[in-house]
Amino acid sequence: MSTNAELATIFAEMAGILELTGANRFRVNAHDRVARVLEALPDDVAELADDPARLTAIDGIGEGSAKKIIEYVETGRIGEHDELRREVPAGLLDVLKVPGLGPKTVRALWEKGGVVDIATLRAKLESGELESIPRMGKKTLENIRDNLAYADQAGRRLRLGAALPIAENIVEHLQRLEGVTRLEYAGSLRRGRETIGDIDILACTDDPAALTDAFTGMGHVDRVIASGETKSSVRLADGVQVDLRIVDPDAFGAALLYFTGSKEHNVVLRERSIKRGMRLNEYGLFPDEGADGRDDDRPPQKRGISPVASRREEEIYRALDLPYIPPELREDRGEFDHDLPELVEVDDIRAELHAHTTASDGTMSIDELAEEARARGLHTIAVTDHSRSSVQANGLSDDRLREHIDAVRDANTRIEGITLLAGSEVDILADGRLDYGDDLLAELDVVVASPHSSLRQDRKKATARLLRAIRHPLVHILGHPTGRMINSRPGLDPDISRLVDAAVEHETALEINANPARLDLRDTHVRAAVDAGALLAINTDAHSPAHFDFLRYGVLTARRGWLPADRCLNTWSSRTLHAWLKRSR
Ligand SMILES: [Zn+2]
Ligand SMILES: [Zn+2]
Repeated sequence: MSTNAELATIFAEMAGILELTGANRFRVNAHDRVARVLEALPDDVAELADDPARLTAIDGIGEGSAKKIIEYVETGRIGEHDELRREVPAGLLDVLKVPGLGPKTVRALWEKGGVVDIATLRAKLESGELESIPRMGKKTLENIRDNLAYADQAGRRLRLGAALPIAENIVEHLQRLEGVTRLEYAGSLRRGRETIGDIDILACTDDPAALTDAFTGMGHVDRVIASGETKSSVRLADGVQVDLRIVDPDAFGAALLYFTGSKEHNVVLRERSIKRGMRLNEYGLFPDEGADGRDDDRPPQKRGISPVASRREEEIYRALDLPYIPPELREDRGEFDHDLPELVEVDDIRAELHAHTTASDGTMSIDELAEEARARGLHTIAVTDHSRSSVQANGLSDDRLREHIDAVRDANTRIEGITLLAGSEVDILADGRLDYGDDLLAELDVVVASPHSSLRQDRKKATARLLRAIRHPLVHILGHPTGRMINSRPGLDPDISRLVDAAVEHETALEINANPARLDLRDTHVRAAVDAGALLAINTDAHSPAHFDFLRYGVLTARRGWLPADRCLNTWSSRTLHAWLKRSR
C-alpha cells in the first residue's frame, strides 16, 4: 500500500473510533476529512512531509494533522492511533459502516450485546439475543437485518460526489506532464451517473512511457493492476479502479465516444452507421470494408483506411445525421428521436432555496450563509431550517421559528446585494400533515416540505403522504421527495407519475437535492417530472459553506433528466422567482 493509502486508512479508522467513543463532532469530522483528502491526493504525501508548509497548504489538512502525517512518515506509526485502537475491538469499525447504524447504536450493540464485528452481529441477530437490549425493539433489529442485506447488494460502486473529485485531481496532476496534449475522463462519470464503477481516463501524449510511469506512480495508488503501452490500470486506496488509455490524437473523438458510453447508446450509433454503409468503433467512423475488415482488430488507420470522422465527437454525430448529444443524455432514452432540450447548466443557477443555519443543524450563522451565497453570485438565498419534529437536527419550535423569521428579515434589511428569504424545511409527518400550523407557514416566504422519518412506509402510504404535501396550498417545494441515501438507504418508493401530475396541477416544484448522497429526485424521476410539465428546483441543502459545491451534482442529475433551464426555479430572475413564491401568500 502507498503511504497515502495507509494514512487515509488510519485517519478513517481514527474517525470511526472517535465516533464510537462519543468524541466531539468536530474532531471526528476533521479526521474524516483528512482521510478523504489523502484518498484523492495524487501527490506522494511522503514527499510533501519533508516540508510541513506544503502539507498545511492542502485544503483540509491542519497543523495537528500535518504533525501526525509527519510522525507516520518518520516512524511508521501514529501514537494517537495506537491509543485509540486499544479502546475498541477492531471489527467494530466494520459494524459502523453498515448503513443505518449510527455510533450510538453500535456502541449499545457492543457494550450491552457483545457485538464485536459483523460475524457476531449476524449470529446474534439470528439467535434473537439482541432483543433484550434496551431500545432494540423487533423493528429496529429488523431494520438492521435489512440494512446488512442492502449493504451487501449495493456493492462497491462509488458515489458521484466521491468519484468526480478523484478523477479531476488525477487529470489535473497528469496534465502537468510534458508531452501530454489531451486528457479527459470518460465513462459513466462523464455521463454524470449517481454511482460509478471504474474511472476511465483517456489521454494523448508524445511520451507514453512518462505518462504511464506518472500514472502508476501516483501517491494514492494502492496496487498496479496492469501497465502497458496503451493501457494501464491501478487500484486506489479506497478500492476504486482507474484505467488510463493512451490514444492517437486523430482518433480521440471516437475513443471518447466509445469509452463514454453508455453501451446502449453506442449500440444504436453502430446500427445507424451500418444502415449508412459505415462502421463505427473506438478508432473512428469508417466506410464499410465488407467482410474482410470485420475480423481485423488493428485500427483501420493502420491498414491504410481513412476514417469518415474520428477526431471529434461532434464530427461523428454529424456524419450520422445527428446533433451533438451531451454525455448526460447518452442512455438510449429517446435522445435519437426527440428534439434535445437546452439543458440547464451550473452557471444558470442564481438562487438557493434550501439551506440551514446554526439555528438547526447547519454550521453557518444567517449572516455567514448570506455572505457565502452572495460570494457565489446568487441573487436569493432561502433560510430553511428544520422543523420541530426533526429533534435530532435541533428543529425549531413555533416560538423559535417566529424569532428566526424576525432575525432573517432583520438580516435582509442589513445585508446588501442579496435577498434573504425566511423559510422552513418543514417535516412531512407520516400521514402527510405538516409539522407547523397553516398560520405560521403563511408567514414564511418559502416552504420546503420534506420527509425525514417513516421512510420505510409502503408505496400506497408514501404516495398518499407526499400527495398531501404537494397539494398543500402553502408548500412551494417538495424537498428530497423519497429520502433515499445512495448505497445506504432505499427511502420511499412513491408512485412518481401521480406525484408529478399533482405537482403540475398544484404548481408545486419538485426538488433535486444536490447532496451527492441524496440526488433525490433521481435522474429517471426528473425525466418523468419534465415530461409531465412540472417545475423543478435544484437545491444544495447547504449545511456548511463547502456544501454549495454540491450544486454541480444536482445539475448533472437534472441534465440526465432532460431539464431545460427555464423549468428550474433556481435559474429565474429575482423578480420572476419572488412573484412565483408570493402567488400563494
Ligand atoms: Zn431534509
Ligand atoms: Zn435540508
